[in-house]
This record gives sequence, structure tokens and C-alpha cells, in this order.
Amino acid sequence: MLPYGRQSIDERDIEGVLGVLRGEWLTTGPAVGAFEEELAAWTGGVPCVSVTSGTAALHTAYAAAGVGPGDEVVTSPITFVATAATAAMLGARVVFADVEEDTANLDPAAVEAVVGPRTRAVTAVDYAGHPAEYDVLRKIASSVEAVVVGDAAHSVGSRYHDRPVGALADLTTFSFFPTKTITTAEGGAVATADVELLRRARRFRNHGLVRDPQELRDPDEGGWHQEVHAFGLNYRLPDVLCALGVSQLRRLGAFRERRARLVERYNKALQGLAGLRLPTRRPHADPAWHLYSVGVLGGRRREAYERMRAAGIGVQVNYLPAYWHPVFADMGYRRGMCPVAEEFYARQLSLPLFPDLTDSEQDRVVEALHAILG
Ligand SMILES: *Cc1c(COP(=O)(O)O)cnc(C)c1O
Repeated sequence: MLPYGRQSIDERDIEGVLGVLRGEWLTTGPAVGAFEEELAAWTGGVPCVSVTSGTAALHTAYAAAGVGPGDEVVTSPITFVATAATAAMLGARVVFADVEEDTANLDPAAVEAVVGPRTRAVTAVDYAGHPAEYDVLRKIASSVEAVVVGDAAHSVGSRYHDRPVGALADLTTFSFFPTKTITTAEGGAVATADVELLRRARRFRNHGLVRDPQELRDPDEGGWHQEVHAFGLNYRLPDVLCALGVSQLRRLGAFRERRARLVERYNKALQGLAGLRLPTRRPHADPAWHLYSVGVLGGRRREAYERMRAAGIGVQVNYLPAYWHPVFADMGYRRGMCPVAEEFYARQLSLPLFPDLTDSEQDRVVEALHAILG
């Protein structure tokens, strides 16, 4: 089965990992800082904290922002459930706002209608790699003193008004799962330019431990002494995986180009196919495409999904509206809440898109889709 997304691992990646395995550190060692610095080269210099997954990154970002009981987090339903689940697990109430019809990104007008004094964070998702409308979202969020979190699991390497993802939100989270644009197997990161949020994120990923003598409550306890002032977790991304991240980041430019080329080929080959809606791009956005997301019209999405799968093409659906998950339904969230998102979901299909997808494999996808919808 041709997958919808998968990693690209070459000899340099393997050498990078082997180098760490032959060395002294398996976990917190020099590759961690190296990876965080190389990642910051893609965020316009905004400092990055590596963590063990995109989910851990969201959890860390919300914890750093002080999200807790009594707070509301406004987000998009067109996302992987972790965007909302991590806020809910910190005790916040998740408020879903509808998405824009073209990009399936959080609609600023829908956000404006639901923010208020309880809003602690507004979390945008750069669906398929296309950046959300950060400038507008930041204005709305700051009017209620909330932070903007960018779930950039899809969009490392994307740009918006000539600024990189990572420099657009107060806190940006990345995922390095194998289907994403670069991989560390499991992994993620939080980027933030705010020194206080950065300090809190760094602490949260390491049990909340404080070591700086200036900040210890009991500085005279002894040389071994360290303290916890606020609870944290162990979300440290090991050196072995950071080494893979370093070599993957060196390939990100090439990945971006190959993905752009494949998107262009899909656009050409599929334009004019009736019953299919192709992805769009806003003029000020320069996406590093993660998904090639199409809309299958005429109520034929399920048929297209099943027939493509039967043809050995692992298409995917991204995503079930988050509040359709029974865990939200059980809390009283009702279908129909975000009609644009639900309509988007009803048509959505992701075609295979990854750097090692060959032209002829892509042609096979196109032919299969023509055979079904043509
Ligand atoms: C993949 C993904 C996540 C979760 O990342 P993991 O690394 O799998 O934990 C969160 N949000 C979005 C939009 C994602 O695509």
C-alpha cells in the first residue's frame, strides 16, 4: 500500500544516529542543543525547546502559558485531537471555533465571536502546511489578554507575509512524527520568543526542576540540590533522536522543494477533474506542504476512499472534527457546532505526499482518481 505520508531516511541520517550511539550520551547531550539551534534557524531565530512529541509540545506550551481550570482555549476542530486534548487535560474548557472555507484554518471572525475574559489561549492549526491568519488572530487574542499558540505540526518551513512559522505566534509547536515534514521518529518542539514562556517550557519538560543557584529557595542545601517549584514531566527528547533531527533539518530545504514540485504536478494533473476540489493557497502564504488535501464533491468521499484503498493507494482523511470524538460528545459538545468544518470533513481526502514519492507512483494515484471520478 502506497502510504499518504512517510519518512525519508538516507545514509546521512543513519550516520548521525550511529555517531551518537558510538559516543558518550544517549539522552541529554550535545545533540539536543545542536538540534534546537538548527531548528531556530528555521524559526527566524526564535528559541526552541525540543520535547518527545507534538502532543508533548502542545502540553508544554499550554502549561507554560498557565492554562488551567477556569480557562478557555479556543481552537479549530479540523486538527488531530491532541490540539484540544492537551488543553482539556490541564483542566481548561475547549471552545471550538469554525474554520475558513478555503484553507480549513481557524476563522478569525469565528474566534472573535467566542473569546472573552476566560480565554487563555487561541490555538491555530496550520492545516496541510498553510499558515493560519496569525496577524489577525494575534490582535483578537491580545484584546482579551490571551496568547496565540500555533500548532505547526504540519508547517515547519512554511512562511507567512515573508516571516517563518515559529515567529508568528506567542508559542509554536512542532511534531516530528514520521508522516510529518521532518522526523525524529517521535519528537516535537516548542518555539517562543518570550523569555518567561521559554523558561517555563524548559522547566516543564524536565520535571519542573530548578537548578540555577539564583533561583533556589534553599541555596545552601548542598551542591547536589535542585528544587521543584511547579510540577513538570519528563518530555526530554534524547540525543539519539536529536541527532536524527539535525540531519533531517539539513534536508528540510530539499524536502520542501520536492513537496512543492509534487503539489504542482498534482494540481496540473487533477485540474479539470469534475467532482474534485483542489487545495488553494493565499497570496501571502508560502506553505511547506505537508498534506495534499482535496475535496471530493457529490457525497462521493467515502467511495473514493474505499476504491483508492482497494487500488493499493493509502489515502487518508484529516480530520474527524475534534468534537465528534465521543470524549467531547460525552461532555455535551454537539454536532452541527462548526458547519464549515463539518462540510470540509465530509469531502476531505489526503492523497499521498512525501519526498520519496516518485513521479510514476504519483501518476498511478492520479490515474486511479481519474478512473473513479472521471
Ligand atoms: C501530528 C499532529 C499532532 C501530534 O503530534 P505527535 O508528534 O503525533 O504527538 C498535533 N497536531 C497536529 C495538527 C498534528 O498533525
